[in-house]
Amino acid sequence: MENAMKSFGENVFRDSNLKKRVSKEVFKEFKASQLGKTELSKEAAEVIANAIKDWATKRGATHYCHWFQPLTDLTAEKHDSFLEPTESEELIYKFSGSNLIKGEPDASSFPNGGLRSTFEARGYTIWDTSSYPFIRENKNGVTLYIPTAFISFTGEALDKKVPLLRTMKYINEQALRVLRALGNTTSKHVFNTLGVEQEYFLVKKELFEARDDLLLTGRTLFGAPAPKGQELNDHYFGKIKDKVINFMSDVDVELWKLGIPSKTRHNEVAPNQFEVAPLFSVANLASDQNQIIMETIEKTALKHGLVALLHEKPFDGVNGSGKHNNWSLGTDDGKNLFSPGKDPKTNTNFLIFASAVIESVDRYYPMLRYSTATATNDHRLGGHEAPPAIISIFLGEELTTILDNIANKKDAPVSEASEVNLSVDVLPTFSMDSGDRNRTSPFAFTGNKFEFRMPGSSSTPATTAAVINAVVGKVLSEYAEKLEKATERTLPKIINEIIANAYKKHHRIIFNGNGYSEEWVKEAKKRGLTNEVSANTALRKMVDPEILELVDGIGMLSEQESLARYNAYAERYVKQLTIESRTFIDIVNKNILPSALKFANLLADHIEKNSKYGKAFIKEQEELLKDVLSNVTALRKETKSLEKEIARVSNEEDLPKQTDLAKEKLVSGLEALRVPCDNLEKVIDKDLWKFPTYTDLLFKL
Ligand code: ADP
Ligand code: MG
Repeated sequence: MENAMKSFGENVFRDSNLKKRVSKEVFKEFKASQLGKTELSKEAAEVIANAIKDWATKRGATHYCHWFQPLTDLTAEKHDSFLEPTESEELIYKFSGSNLIKGEPDASSFPNGGLRSTFEARGYTIWDTSSYPFIRENKNGVTLYIPTAFISFTGEALDKKVPLLRTMKYINEQALRVLRALGNTTSKHVFNTLGVEQEYFLVKKELFEARDDLLLTGRTLFGAPAPKGQELNDHYFGKIKDKVINFMSDVDVELWKLGIPSKTRHNEVAPNQFEVAPLFSVANLASDQNQIIMETIEKTALKHGLVALLHEKPFDGVNGSGKHNNWSLGTDDGKNLFSPGKDPKTNTNFLIFASAVIESVDRYYPMLRYSTATATNDHRLGGHEAPPAIISIFLGEELTTILDNIANKKDAPVSEASEVNLSVDVLPTFSMDSGDRNRTSPFAFTGNKFEFRMPGSSSTPATTAAVINAVVGKVLSEYAEKLEKATERTLPKIINEIIANAYKKHHRIIFNGNGYSEEWVKEAKKRGLTNEVSANTALRKMVDPEILELVDGIGMLSEQESLARYNAYAERYVKQLTIESRTFIDIVNKNILPSALKFANLLADHIEKNSKYGKAFIKEQEELLKDVLSNVTALRKETKSLEKEIARVSNEEDLPKQTDLAKEKLVSGLEALRVPCDNLEKVIDKDLWKFPTYTDLLFKL
């Protein structure tokens, strides 16, 4: 492990690597371009490209690629070798400034929601100078990766990163305005920080490969419950099996080499479910790092004879996997804007920024909701383990009381962070944190950051962070308007008004109780909060006129870009459900039905051969046979009906209607087909049942 720590960052080209290799002037120019202050000159790009090439080729790299995040859930890369011809017919290694800065993948083959048609398919990948180039080592070669943003010929965003970069810029500007108006003269930049917790499952590779549903859709479309689930609470934080800890150690070593400070690893609630979390960093870097973490988990698992499942809900009946996005704002001079400090009551900065979050989440919660809306995450939200599809904020009693006192001009005492005495001599007394840990809230204040728990495990944190930046930035811009007009005399009053009004108008969004309870669903309804349980309707809010205008106004996405994005996501929703339906029908026709018929024949034979023992003896077997046959009938009925619905969905030309039809017909059709399958699995001879069961998948490693 000592060696592992020594190799930290050896596969990533950080600013310190560049500093060593270029002149002071070039480095200064590069730093300014990272903050979006200037554009990199051609000359500087040339020098930097050369430095990166030297570093990468010394580490064995033969190829480079522009690495980007199109509107799928995956990353994309196109490799080129460094080889260039020379006049003397020799080949040399070359990597020019323009190779570094710009790539030209064909944009028409990625989802683009109609922004690019095939005849004008050009797209560009542009180097994101604020994220680090890195190398990936494979057994037979090494490749240099350049993190990029993906845009169209005319500059429209075609990826998930551009909106994040745009909103990071926006929230920096608005937060700085507020800070200045509040008297801060020192901070020069406000960064959006993100810490991303990643949950996943592991299954044995040979079991995974024996299930076409896992292979093609990422989740089990059928499977009778195992006799044991997670009810004993014996997996969460449990002792980690050797096989798993070996895998986790390999993941950590790989991530550390890439400069990703992987920090926490543990067993999660469901059997065979785990979590990994790095230290937080600036949002676009954290988001790129999360992509690398997902890929590293998947790759490393294979080396250990395992497959990692990043799907939100691979198994029915046990917890699904989320991706907790810890979001915060910090200044270049080291202040966390959500740190309540010793005395939150008098911490004006904190109260203003916290008010902006409360107000923005209440005003724009449909945006937060749609940023997490996918066909796969639908299986998880509102399940007993995941936050409900209702958005609310957990603030904790102490902060809620402080805001309530300000809003209602009360002087009531606030129970300050108190000491906890355990009445046990050998244990020290400790002080309580002002932000408690409420695990059932979708948007929880946790001490100096907000933890958004709704996003699914396979999603990119870039999308949710962009939306939070957009809405909080928007409200901060309104606060800035008011604060900038204040005089020294009126400032305290205006500050007070902002905090009081935000709380008075928007406190319905604050909920400190159990977010998983039935009472909360009722209470939320009374408060007028919506419970948007499915992605098809949640996504539609992307094209709500008011939201389109807001998103355009702050420069996150133009109306056309938003419309295109809605199209891409809605199409994806329909396609995923269609693929699940087709996969299930295929498995039933080719495997489950034949197995069931074989078993029925076996039973029928048995009954015939043993009829001499009398009616009473064979009664049970006859009942079983009847049961099997009625499930066979149900299999036929449900597959036929699902086939019809697939055709109906694919014939619907209106996209929003198509998503509704997919939700209504395919989701329910898949559920209906699952019933006879699970019934049959419970009774059919294990030798005839071709699939690994939930017991195999969840308990064997
Ligand atoms: P848990 O939610 O499991 O209790 P922790 O409190 O350990 O988790 O932290 C969760 C995540 O929050 C970590 O990934 C950590 O890096 C991140 N985090 C801590 N401070 C910040 C911050 N200022 N901005 C963004 N993320 C942060
Ligand atoms: Mg967490």
